[in-house]
Amino acid sequence: MNLHEYQGKKILEQHGVRTQRGVVIDSVYQVDDLSKELIDKTGTSWFVVKAQIHAGGRGKGGGVKLAKNLTDLKEVVSNILGMKLITPQTPKDGKLVSKVLIAEDVYYPGESEINEFYISILLNRKTGNNMIMYSTEGGVDIETVAENTPDLIFYEDIDPSLGIQPFQARKIAFNLGLTGLAFKEMVKFITLLYKSYVSSDSSLFEINPVLKTSDNKILAVDAKVTLDDNALFRHKDYLSWRDLKEENPVETEAREVGLNYVDLNGNVGCMVNGAGLAMATMDLIKQSGGEPANFLDVGGTADAKRVETAFRLILKDPNVKAILVNIFGGIVRCDRVAQGIVDACNNLDNISVPIIVRLQGTNSEQAKKIIDNCDFEVYSATEFQEAADKIQYVLN
Ligand code: GDP
Ligand code: MN
Repeated sequence: MNLHEYQGKKILEQHGVRTQRGVVIDSVYQVDDLSKELIDKTGTSWFVVKAQIHAGGRGKGGGVKLAKNLTDLKEVVSNILGMKLITPQTPKDGKLVSKVLIAEDVYYPGESEINEFYISILLNRKTGNNMIMYSTEGGVDIETVAENTPDLIFYEDIDPSLGIQPFQARKIAFNLGLTGLAFKEMVKFITLLYKSYVSSDSSLFEINPVLKTSDNKILAVDAKVTLDDNALFRHKDYLSWRDLKEENPVETEAREVGLNYVDLNGNVGCMVNGAGLAMATMDLIKQSGGEPANFLDVGGTADAKRVETAFRLILKDPNVKAILVNIFGGIVRCDRVAQGIVDACNNLDNISVPIIVRLQGTNSEQAKKIIDNCDFEVYSATEFQEAADKIQYVLN
């Protein structure tokens, strides 16, 4: 589950990580009251207004603006609230901004050199450890840094059973070129950031930029946080932070009925039991000249109801030109699945695309008969290659 910047910062603050402080509003009428509260809290009336959407690159798209007094602030807020913000990470027509964060401007006026760093924490899938990825080149696209100057990105593996060791935090602060007080502050920042990552059960923290102010404070200016869905049951308070407006509606519906569905850009919908078989099936679709339109693992129970729901979700995507069903019958019996497919075709009267069904395993022969004898545009296949050929055929 992805969070908004202001929610991510709340997690950081709960664990003592210094952030750019602010308040969130969804209407320009709240500016007066809340900005006074903010002035009291921070002692500054120089603000930055930041659009809260689930996408980065907001600065470039005009979603991050400065204001130096209350009149400016109201104007900036009313310009950003309600805008369709277009950034390199949003859909082409942008995302509607329905909340803004008003934060203290932490880039002090007259600052001669700006020190922005990049720090993220994520899982290193090769080593099975957590990993801190960091760079002196903060504030810009990390993808660009990775492409042009990959040697400016550093990695530090953290053994999850040991946690971050003091020497590791010091090494990071050293590699970031810090000395004196800033060095100490960075060591503290990294240590608390790591603890915050672990105790919130996150799968990604990306803090870009981390700022060093001229008086040597280290703080998080931005926060991109992804929580691990599998651990959400331990964080009931975060559960209510889900912003459905920011999520793909089909994925939301799938989650509600317990289907594992990820929307993709291709033209062949697929329905598979088991994540491994789903991956292999997506490869198969590519080999036959199609592109997978989704990843869908129906799990262990592929009964008629579930098959019907899965078809309904797949068919919401107008790009789908064919559907491939690839089910391995172990405990689940293939004839039951086949009957489920036929029932689903009966119940859904808008299936206008051909369906290729490969059922292997328990009772696969009876299943093939059911498929071959039905009145719908459903074709059976026994082997992988046969399924691939049939997809190729229906796409052309
Ligand atoms: P992103 O563009 O979506 O990654 O949003 P960020 O929160 O990273 O903000 C974009 C950029 O705005 C940052 O890289 C900073 O350079 C700038 N910025 C953010 N907060 C402030 C601030 O308080 N004062 C000033 N002057 N610039 C800021
Ligand atoms: Mn950023």
